[in-house]
Amino acid sequence: GKVLVTGVNGFIAGWVAQELLAQGFSVRGTVRSAEKATSIQKAFAAYADRFEFAVVKDITLQGAFDEAVKGVDAIAHLASPVRVTATDPEELIRPALDGTTSVLRSASAPGSSVKRIVYVSSLAAVVDSRRPKPVVYTEADWNETEPAEVKEKGSEANPAAMYRTSKTLAEKAAWDMYSEGREKGTIGWDLVTLCPPWTFGPVLGATTLKDLNVSIGTWYANCIKEDQDSTSWSIGPSWVDVRDFATATFLSLTKPEAGGERFIISRSPFYWKQWITIARRLLGQPESGDDESYPEFEIVYNSQKSKDVLGLRYRDMEETAAFMIADFKAKGWC
Ligand code: NDP
Repeated sequence: GKVLVTGVNGFIAGWVAQELLAQGFSVRGTVRSAEKATSIQKAFAAYADRFEFAVVKDITLQGAFDEAVKGVDAIAHLASPVRVTATDPEELIRPALDGTTSVLRSASAPGSSVKRIVYVSSLAAVVDSRRPKPVVYTEADWNETEPAEVKEKGSEANPAAMYRTSKTLAEKAAWDMYSEGREKGTIGWDLVTLCPPWTFGPVLGATTLKDLNVSIGTWYANCIKEDQDSTSWSIGPSWVDVRDFATATFLSLTKPEAGGERFIISRSPFYWKQWITIARRLLGQPESGDDESYPEFEIVYNSQKSKDVLGLRYRDMEETAAFMIADFKAKGWC
């Protein structure tokens, strides 16, 4: 089979493509320009006969993916802006929302070969800042507060809320198109959405420190350079290893019973201090000697469904940190 992976030059999408290639699939990855494919093509040299890329310059245009979806059996959609620096919410919402509806529409064209679409959403679409704590979120929960807030405040809204709104609106649009298509019998695919937290792990292929994506860049700043105060822009941070997330995507693309389901893909909540302690130990640096007991987590995401339905197993912090640090060392970053 062949899978279309959008934004394949991105951090997570690269690992998703790698997992699919390792499982024997062919992969067509989309990028915004041919130059953006150089590094990932090099990383996949061993799979040159099964990896190809397609340039989709502007994902927000309707019909943008018409060519790219031709002959693929499934789609993993990941291309979306990940940043919290927008001054206008539309900077984030348009590419997230229109990019998603555009790819879903191309997959719905008559004669489409697409059977399954996995949309990579985020816990940003699950967490709701108004819920009293402590709280345990499940797949039934949606971020209702921030989209309303962003709608009301526009460019005065908090940029992190703008990002979380972009993910929420895009996932909702995907479910709406799916229900409508099912009802009318106009689509040949079913939908799975995955909601990951901070996604950590080694960086695939060559890159530079300044080009790190947000999650690895933040981990590096907090745990290696220790030059940030360890607060971050996510509400109730949790994490998952990028390789476990790639496995979850593979399972979501292939397991019949995953069709029509939403999954939280999360290992556990964390305090940045925990990662810093592990990183210092792995780097042979003096540990802080502070009291290492942590308060109970107030925000927890229940990922039992991913274990029960997908059969997913999760790596722990020590293993992920060890892989990241080995990768950073190999790249000369620590
Ligand atoms: P990266 O920043 O590494 O990659 C983002 C990808 O999306 C790149 O291919 C990028 O292309 C593309 N992209 C960004 N903006 C646009 C745009 N306006 N139009 C077209 N393409 C665009 O991201 P991650 O790998 O970290 O994230 C991938 C997905 O996972 C996203 O959907 C994100 O919301 C989701 N996610 C990530 C988490 C994390 O911790 N990393 C956590 C939860 C969800 P280009 O290089 O050309 O800009």
